[in-house]
Amino acid sequence: MIVAGNWKMYRGPDPHALRARVAAIEGVDVIVAPPYTELRTCVEAGLTTFAQNVHWEDEGAYTGEISPAMLLELGVKGAIVGHSERRQYFGETDTSVARRTQAALEAGLGVIACIGETGEQRETGDTETVLRIQVEAIGDACGPNERLVLAYEPVWAIGTGVTATPELAQEAHAYIKSLLDRPVLYGGSVKPDNAAELMAEPDIDGALVGGASLDIESFAAICEAAARSRS
Ligand code: PEP
Repeated sequence: MIVAGNWKMYRGPDPHALRARVAAIEGVDVIVAPPYTELRTCVEAGLTTFAQNVHWEDEGAYTGEISPAMLLELGVKGAIVGHSERRQYFGETDTSVARRTQAALEAGLGVIACIGETGEQRETGDTETVLRIQVEAIGDACGPNERLVLAYEPVWAIGTGVTATPELAQEAHAYIKSLLDRPVLYGGSVKPDNAAELMAEPDIDGALVGGASLDIESFAAICEAAARSRS
């Protein structure tokens, strides 16, 4: 099981205190994805640390971007790519997500590549089409790379307090895995009180947690639910 905390553009909890709280949780790979300014402290605290994005070039005139090599130099182990907030507000496309993913994997980083339908796409019955296009863009560029993890994050469930039912999430995860055989995390308002039922589903391999990762106890409780789900 994998539980990753996406701190978004928040400072997040104290990395040393977080590390001390989650260190003894067995059977779960715990990852944090803080803003850039916190990357070094998280690495130094001994947390498996991912960036929230990564570019495909080693260096160049790409203001605001960061390269795989730069992240590796810092001791960062991977990056989230294609988060719906990047797709929605910053023009990220399936093509740019695939390029970022491919370059990061080739450089030796891990990648959590995010996919998911909007509420409107679900209502119009287009969920599988959207997921297939998103997954194929990544799969065509990278194949089932061992450092690649997917995160199913229905856009209507992110930061809204509305969580997909375990059955709905399981159905989407099974479909995604039929397209690309990699672990799939669920993301979208995961909290301590819904984590266990979500992670009991056979094709839910962990969680990508936004809001609840900003609180050490909430995040640790989700990690513990993940650990119990496969014990
Ligand atoms: C996220 O940012 O990836 C996310 C799932 O956020 P939240 O848990 O707050 O819905």
